[in-house]
Amino acid sequence: MSVRVRIAPSPTGNLHIGTARTAVFNWLYARRHGGKFILRIEDTDLERSRPEFTENIQTGLQWLGLNWDEGPFFQTQRLAQYRQAIQKLLDQGSAYRCYCSPEELDALRERQKAQGQAPRYDNRHRDLTPEQEAAFQAEGRRPVIRFKIDDQRRITWQDRVRGLVEWQGSDLGGDMVVARRSETPEEPFGQPLYNLAVVVDDIEMGITDVIRGEDHIANTAKQILLYEALDSLIPSFAHTPLILNPEGKKLSKRDGVTSIDEFRQLGFLPQALANYMTLLGWTPPDSTEEIFTLAEAAQHFSLERVNKAGAKFDWDKLDWINSQYLRRLAPGELTDLLIPYWQGAGYSVDAVERPWLEVLAELVGPSLTRLTDGVGESRLLWGEKMELDESALAQLGQPGAGAVLEAVLDWLQTGESLTEDGAKGKINELTKTLGVKKGVVMKSLRAGLMGTLQGPDLIQSWLLLNQAQWDRPRLRQALEESAKLRK
Ligand code: GLU
Repeated sequence: MSVRVRIAPSPTGNLHIGTARTAVFNWLYARRHGGKFILRIEDTDLERSRPEFTENIQTGLQWLGLNWDEGPFFQTQRLAQYRQAIQKLLDQGSAYRCYCSPEELDALRERQKAQGQAPRYDNRHRDLTPEQEAAFQAEGRRPVIRFKIDDQRRITWQDRVRGLVEWQGSDLGGDMVVARRSETPEEPFGQPLYNLAVVVDDIEMGITDVIRGEDHIANTAKQILLYEALDSLIPSFAHTPLILNPEGKKLSKRDGVTSIDEFRQLGFLPQALANYMTLLGWTPPDSTEEIFTLAEAAQHFSLERVNKAGAKFDWDKLDWINSQYLRRLAPGELTDLLIPYWQGAGYSVDAVERPWLEVLAELVGPSLTRLTDGVGESRLLWGEKMELDESALAQLGQPGAGAVLEAVLDWLQTGESLTEDGAKGKINELTKTLGVKKGVVMKSLRAGLMGTLQGPDLIQSWLLLNQAQWDRPRLRQALEESAKLRK
């Protein structure tokens, strides 16, 4: 049987790192086995589902390179199938109408609480007589549909990650609601609920392996009962570990960044994030190799190497992986990625030529951890004016600094465009003619060109400033400062 897996997000929020990681595992599994990866949008929660979240989930998956083979399928477009299944359950006696009012259920729960018991439905309407049903209906009550759960039943499955999992029917909270009350008296029942819809879909879509977060384990026990009642084969299950924050608690909104969009905005590359997510719970066979594409990971992926223990989210590791990917980019690619950040910072991208941008990208590339660092790392190279920091001012007050700047400005008057060799030659020459140490020439130039003594390679920076014709205004600005300091 060929493998068919799915990712089934609920569009009640933006694509979350947990869902994306589950999508990665499903994608890898599908690709490993030459199977199909299906996208299903579980939008039956009408109050919380939003089209913009559906959009965000799809663009997020695409951005990560998690292309799907079938779908998206929408649960709201499949209500007829769920209704049919519910009717079948009713017809065969595995489901029934429960007329309990919310108040009655509240009272039951309160009583159980007072007696120190776990809240559960007491199955009180499981065996109503036709007369009792008629009486409730005459009162104007509308039923929910409940699926019978045998308290005595032991439910077991071989989980591909967790091994043998066992549940006792009595721990599932009593007969479970599979359809809400209908909105109008004419309809036999209302909105179908999550567990029912998932099972009907997984059956119809021929899902062979359900790979999802371990927070769904209790649902799996209920769903196995539904597969049986609907006379269907049961897929294999693999429950993946949760993603934990550095304190070892489940990663949640409170931890700040959790949506894929936010990771993108922070300057992570999709390939790096996908690579990192692969390692969140999976150990590659050769665990020394940690940088790989999704396609490469797919060649080795197996559920047997997915860990049971929660996976701690490690920002340092993600940063490290991202920096590795940034270093592997061609200057042109890096430039394309940095342009929006430079524009966002208000830098004069339109005032320079494309090759200038590529040289800048190459210059700052090795010092980037995230794309956003491209702003700060290149800050000193944008525009004719600069801010002089204390280190620059101290240098410009030194003997010889003014002479260096004057000599360089004189030389640049000729308007010749600067070359690497020309710049190096000039520095050596000035060391001799001005009778100062080479360090004085270099530091004074750096202070005069960048406004600080720190920063990227001096010669490369100077070449860039020169091409943009920003070096002379800066050197003049510095010379004026230097003159003031020496007064
Ligand atoms: N819609 C569920 C969720 O977003 C997933 C259901 C499933 O994978 O079975 O958590």
